[in-house]
Amino acid sequence: MRYAVISDLHANESALRRVLADAGKRGVDKVVCLGDVVGYGPLPEETVALARASCAVVLAGNHDDAVSGRGDASSFIDLAGDAVGRHRETLSRGSLDWLRSLPYACEFDGAAAAHGDLVDPPKFYYVENADDAGENFRATDAKLLFVGHTHVPALFVVGRSGTPLQAPPQDFTLEEHKRYIVNPGSVGYPRESNGECRSSYAIYDSKAGTVTFHYLPFSVSSVMQRGAAPKRVRKGVLAAAAVLIAAVAAAVAWLFAPASGVAEPADADLVVERRELRLDGKCSKVRANLKLERGSAPVMLRLRYADADGKTVLEDPPDSVKSSSAKAFKVPAGAASVEFTVSRVSPGEEPRISSFAPAAD
Ligand code: ZN
Repeated sequence: MRYAVISDLHANESALRRVLADAGKRGVDKVVCLGDVVGYGPLPEETVALARASCAVVLAGNHDDAVSGRGDASSFIDLAGDAVGRHRETLSRGSLDWLRSLPYACEFDGAAAAHGDLVDPPKFYYVENADDAGENFRATDAKLLFVGHTHVPALFVVGRSGTPLQAPPQDFTLEEHKRYIVNPGSVGYPRESNGECRSSYAIYDSKAGTVTFHYLPFSVSSVMQRGAAPKRVRKGVLAAAAVLIAAVAAAVAWLFAPASGVAEPADADLVVERRELRLDGKCSKVRANLKLERGSAPVMLRLRYADADGKTVLEDPPDSVKSSSAKAFKVPAGAASVEFTVSRVSPGEEPRISSFAPAAD
């Protein structure tokens, strides 16, 4: 049986169509979707309909849970948070019920799958490094694990040594005594990786025992919003939490919340990644837990603390990070959340983040 394993469609119907057509040409029998059917993109209802019609299994992603009301959307960055409200208003009752009913994990043909991780699927942790991979290998007996959520294709392998390793995503044949974690990347909202931004998915051929990665051109405009402005827009915020999508050849394009309508700050095109962390009032320190890949360009790390209304309490001066930062930053009084922004130092230099997991001390 040949399975196309797809993930993170993000309401991008045209990208999904393209991937399904490509998988069809490659003789795929069944499509397994690792979740995040909605969130971010322009066409949630159409994408839900197409996923329902074409996938044998669809798992729940964190955006699906947030939009359907089953999960919590409070930790979402602005761009994603705005899409939650917009998608909830756009989607039919039937689609919302369907999203709410999606399973968090599944097993098929010797493989196990979940949106974020297999240790605790409803929590949507990320598998970002060899340690995370190790915990996932311990959480299931499956030889082959599929996860999405990061929007970046990835591969982890563990063999007789028992030490999991991260390998560059590559086509492979399943070997005896080895186990694998495959992240197929994102269909509808790929993140830039190694200077490229493409839709991607994987094909698992259970009879041949092979996994192959497939990449397709991705059009930035396909995730841009269409139609009227959403009703729910946070005032005063440069809905800035845009996620960077770089076209090939380092031409950089930006996606904004549709109604932001404002010119972005000049340094916005330097932003690589943004994460927001809610604070419970008791924690006194936070850490970015940021690690760059070996050979990556350096980045600037900035922290902005906001109160419960989203007003800035304090902005730390940018910190230069060459390889990693586990530094503890003191939380100012009155801060209810902190936003970590990673920016490139100059537009030409491409930083590569290996992990970024802000946490409170
Ligand atoms: Zn996603």
